[in-house]
Amino acid sequence: MSINTEKYKQILQKIQGKATLVAVSKIRSVDEIMTLYKLGQRDFGENYVQELFHKQERLPTDIRWHFIGHLQTNKVKYIASFVHLIQAVDSFNLLKEINKQALKNNRTIDCLLQIHIAAEQTKFGFSANELDAFFTSDLPALKNIRITGLMGMATFSDDMNLVRTEFKILKTLFEKYTPLLTNAGISPILSMGMSDDYETALLEGSNMIRIGSLLFGQRN
Ligand SMILES: *Cc1c(COP(=O)(O)O)cnc(C)c1O
Repeated sequence: MSINTEKYKQILQKIQGKATLVAVSKIRSVDEIMTLYKLGQRDFGENYVQELFHKQERLPTDIRWHFIGHLQTNKVKYIASFVHLIQAVDSFNLLKEINKQALKNNRTIDCLLQIHIAAEQTKFGFSANELDAFFTSDLPALKNIRITGLMGMATFSDDMNLVRTEFKILKTLFEKYTPLLTNAGISPILSMGMSDDYETALLEGSNMIRIGSLLFGQRN
């Protein structure tokens, strides 16, 4: 139950200037989060709405909370006032609800679109084909959200060639939409890479990695 400080520093060194580290703190205690906070970490990722809500009330307000799990539309309202980035938007309905709740809170909420790149059927996300129509026709109506990039999860596998191929697909897609985002004054985010595959993800152009177990130890 202790933070791997050495690993934390190692990862920071590896990504220096190239990527943002999101420390995935799901299931971890407020104290554990504070340990990393005191080392300077500000970006934290959570998967569960209740848990995130509970933690943000008890932790410093300059933490940037990333919601990285599958978000149900009826729960958006609980995090809309403070969430920094909703990373795993996987439906247009969800976006509409985020937009509505953002408006209620008089703010704009940044979102990443989750893209389905893994071979596994279980993972959520848009397909590449859905994106084009989406960017051109659906998005402009939603004034209180900002799509700042893409997020994806590779297949859970030891086969790094497979993982790499999937990351490449996401990177290619990302590059296609980069001009659109930069023209809108956005620094485009490509969120890919977790404890087991972040080095591969960085090689493939990730600029945001989401690391849990390497920092906090294995989850049960
Ligand atoms: C849990 C989780 C992570 C972190 O996983 P680790 O393997 O512990 O690094 C990253 N991204 C998402 C979407 C997660 O749910």
